[in-house]
Amino acid sequence: MIKHQQRGLELYCFESLSSLPGVVHAVTTRHGGVSAAPYDSLNLAGGGDDPAAIEANLELLRRALDLERLAWPEQVHGIDMLAVDGDAAGLVGQADGLATDQAGVGLLIRQADCQAVLLVEPEKRVIANLHVGWRGSVAGAVGRGVEFVVERYGVDPAGLYAAISPSLGPCCAEFINHADELGPAYLPYQVRPNYFDLWQATWDQLTAAGLRRDRIETAAKCNKCMDSFFSYRREGETGRFGTVVALV
Ligand SMILES: [Zn+2]
Repeated sequence: MIKHQQRGLELYCFESLSSLPGVVHAVTTRHGGVSAAPYDSLNLAGGGDDPAAIEANLELLRRALDLERLAWPEQVHGIDMLAVDGDAAGLVGQADGLATDQAGVGLLIRQADCQAVLLVEPEKRVIANLHVGWRGSVAGAVGRGVEFVVERYGVDPAGLYAAISPSLGPCCAEFINHADELGPAYLPYQVRPNYFDLWQATWDQLTAAGLRRDRIETAAKCNKCMDSFFSYRREGETGRFGTVVALV
């Protein structure tokens, strides 16, 4: 990933997506916003933070990326997808993935340990952003997201680029109750007792859905290990960073 400053915000970009024309994307850090501790400072969602501060932070992000609007779902750790059409903006409904073929709208997933998984089809100009925590991973959110853009927009999975955001790495993804929560299908991803590589699980789900291996980029950055990202597991009461993608 590439770290850069953009209008006062410290952001990361994926190398693979940065070279695609007509696509803007970023992963936010906690730096550059207006929220007070423990949400300091670029908190993008919920919890006990001042709603006006969150709104101001979302506007800072929109302006930093020079987008007309942002759209985000009410995330519930499921697999439902929503298409963002027309002039939809802000909270667009309950879902764990958004997709669009329209320019100017940034699809935002907000996170503090979960993965955001970006899908980009640069030729047909279709994008999606999936929220994939362990519940979503187990429930098939990745496969469902690919299926949605295939069915709705006629995308060929082999034409998709994918990027897996900073999130809990195999260093920190501890599941003491993994037999109940993850189940036996995740045992191949156990890197040491009770620790799992959910990045690899997503990678495998993307290739199983038909994506090319050379078009998948994993950030390989663990948000619990890096102070520049919020982490629920590290901090408890804390903010949410975000991953956003848009067609321009
Ligand atoms: Zn870690």
